[in-house]
Amino acid sequence: MEPVEALERIAFLLERQGAVTYRVQAFRTASTVISRISPAELRRRAQSGSLTRIKGLGPKTSQVIAEALSGQVPTYLSRLEEEAGGPLVDGDQGQRLRRALRGDCHLHSDWSDGGSPVEAMAGAARDLGHEWCVLTDHSPRLTIAHGLTADRLREQLALVAEVNERLAPFRLLTGIECDILDDGALDQEPELLERLDVVVASVHSKLRMDAAPMTRRLLAAVTNPLVDILGHCTNRQITGKPRPESRFDAGAVFAACAEHRTAIEINCRPDRFDPPRRLLRQAVDTGALFSIDTDAHAPGQLDWQIYGCARAEECGVPPDRIINTWTSHQLTTWTTTGKRPTPKKGNVRAT
Ligand SMILES: [Zn+2]
Ligand SMILES: [Zn+2]
Repeated sequence: MEPVEALERIAFLLERQGAVTYRVQAFRTASTVISRISPAELRRRAQSGSLTRIKGLGPKTSQVIAEALSGQVPTYLSRLEEEAGGPLVDGDQGQRLRRALRGDCHLHSDWSDGGSPVEAMAGAARDLGHEWCVLTDHSPRLTIAHGLTADRLREQLALVAEVNERLAPFRLLTGIECDILDDGALDQEPELLERLDVVVASVHSKLRMDAAPMTRRLLAAVTNPLVDILGHCTNRQITGKPRPESRFDAGAVFAACAEHRTAIEINCRPDRFDPPRRLLRQAVDTGALFSIDTDAHAPGQLDWQIYGCARAEECGVPPDRIINTWTSHQLTTWTTTGKRPTPKKGNVRAT
C-alpha cells in the first residue's frame, strides 16, 4: 500500500464516521505534503527516522507513512478499518436502491464550508462508483459558510471545466446550494443560476418564522423555474445541538414541488435525516420527484447516501421518481427542459 493511499483511506474512514474536520485534516495535509516528495527521498527520510522533520507531518502521520513504506498495512489504518470500515446500515437496507444511483446532487468543497478541494470531492464520488455529481457550494448571503459571490462562482465554473477534462468520462456538473431569502427570493443572479446545471435551494436563516410566511417563502422558491431541488425542507437538526423542524404547510409545498418539477431532497446527513419519515411518506403521495443527496462537506461523507436509500425504501419512494438514477444527460435535460426520461428497460441500472 502506498503511503498516500493509506493516509487518504484513513481520512476517508474518519469522515465517513463523522469525525470533526480537525481530526481528519492532519491526514489530508500529510497526504498532500508527501505527494510532492519523491519516493526515494521519502524512503531515505523514513530510514533515517526524520519524517517528522518534514513540515506538515507529525508523529502519527509519520508512523503511518513509515509502516506503509515497509510494506505493511499501517496499524492505525487496520484498527480504523475494523472499527469504522464496516457497513453503515444493517443487512441489505437500501442496498438495492443505492446500486441504482448514478450520482449525488448536493456536496460542498473548500470554496465554501467544505473541507476538501473540488477535485478531491469529485474523485471520491467517482471512486464510490458514481458517474456524475453536482458541486453545490453556498450562495453569497451565507457568509458564515463563505458563500460564493457571483464572481467567485463564475471562477469556479472554469475550474469545474478543467476538472472534467481530467476526470472524464466522470462528469462534475455545475451547481449551487442557493439560499432561499426571507421573502422566497433566491440569493444569486438569475442569469448565473440559469447557466448552472443544477440548482438546489435551501433555507438557512430565520428557520423559526411562522408557518404562513414560511409556506409562502418555500412556495416562492419551489415554483421558481430556476430551482431544481428543494434542499433539507424542514431544516431540523437531530444530533449535536438539536433544532426543531421549521413549520410550514407541507402538503401545499410538496404539491407545488410535484407540479413545478422541483425534486424534494432526501438529505442523508445523519445530523439531519430530512425530511422525517412522516413527511417523506406524505411527499411520496403527491407524485413528486426525489433526490437522494449526501450534502457532503468531506469526501468520506459521500458514502452516507446509503442512509437516504434505506429511508427512501422504507417510505416507499419509487426508484423511477429518484433523479439520481438518471444519467447526467437525462438529468441536465430535465433541469433545462423539464422533460423526464421516458421509462424504458435499462433506464434504471440493473441490480
Ligand atoms: Zn444547506
Ligand atoms: Zn449543503
